Amino acid sequence: MSVSIDPSSGFCWGVVRTVQIAEQYLAMNDGRELYVLGNIIHNPMEIERLSRKGLKTISVDDFPRIAHRNARVLIRAHGEAPATYRQAMKLGIELVDATCPVVTKLQERVRKFFDQGYQVVIFGKKEHAEVKGVRGVCNDDCIVVLNADEALANVDLRRPTVLFSQTTMDRPSFLQIKEALQQRGMEIIVDTAERIALEFHAKDTICGQVSGREDKLAAFAAAQDVVIFIAGRESSNGKVLFGIAKEANPRTHFIEHVSEIQPEWLKGADSVGVSGATSTPHWLMQQVQQALQQKLTAAAVSGDAV
Ligand code: SF4
Repeated sequence: MSVSIDPSSGFCWGVVRTVQIAEQYLAMNDGRELYVLGNIIHNPMEIERLSRKGLKTISVDDFPRIAHRNARVLIRAHGEAPATYRQAMKLGIELVDATCPVVTKLQERVRKFFDQGYQVVIFGKKEHAEVKGVRGVCNDDCIVVLNADEALANVDLRRPTVLFSQTTMDRPSFLQIKEALQQRGMEIIVDTAERIALEFHAKDTICGQVSGREDKLAAFAAAQDVVIFIAGRESSNGKVLFGIAKEANPRTHFIEHVSEIQPEWLKGADSVGVSGATSTPHWLMQQVQQALQQKLTAAAVSGDAV
């Protein structure tokens, strides 16, 4: 029986960068506290590890409370709305900007189209931190949709429009929304007496760190008898990647913590694969790998079939 870790899993480079920046500041020991706006990543185990080193999680509402403490506030990979930067500046709070460059780029592109008067449509989750930041870039004057039906119900088809995606959404759904809007746009041009020159751009802003993993994860999952997929339950990217693994191998199980592994999942398995989201630390996957090996060894010693 083998227990292997998916070689394409683990932190994406944007998360690695954010955690490294946090650790650099925590290691300074210059008497200044480090806060982070919202959970640094969607993984409770990694949050706990960094909080033991002194990282404290706050929200923008806490700014007045900490303003006098000469503290630093880290902006995580998801980025923040411009209002957050303005508020920090007003209160004299030093920001450490660890926004992922891919998200910064998305914000810049949204700003460019919004300033030119385009209707901005975002495929994503309205309350996701990254989307909140993007909404802030266009003063919340944008439409956030989760599927083609929502897009068709809410988008003004007479306006020049640009469609973007939250970086961690799935590409097939993005393409469905794009095609639905294109088809409806063509209908309007045909059906109305007054010809409407509909300008429509679809910008696939799904991060390559997410989409690039999909095929590799599916191949890894299909090659295992059982897959244990570890991610925070709040992780968007974790949900997308888990869905892909589950489709490739129905014996894929989602856990957030090593204690959630059920021995019956392993019955009759010769190979067990361990994989995770872009916010799952490698040390956690190793912990799960060791726990699986121990369970399998204990079962073999006691003669229990697994
Ligand atoms: S998934 Fe992509 S956009 Fe998100 S933090 Fe990682 S590298 Fe950046």
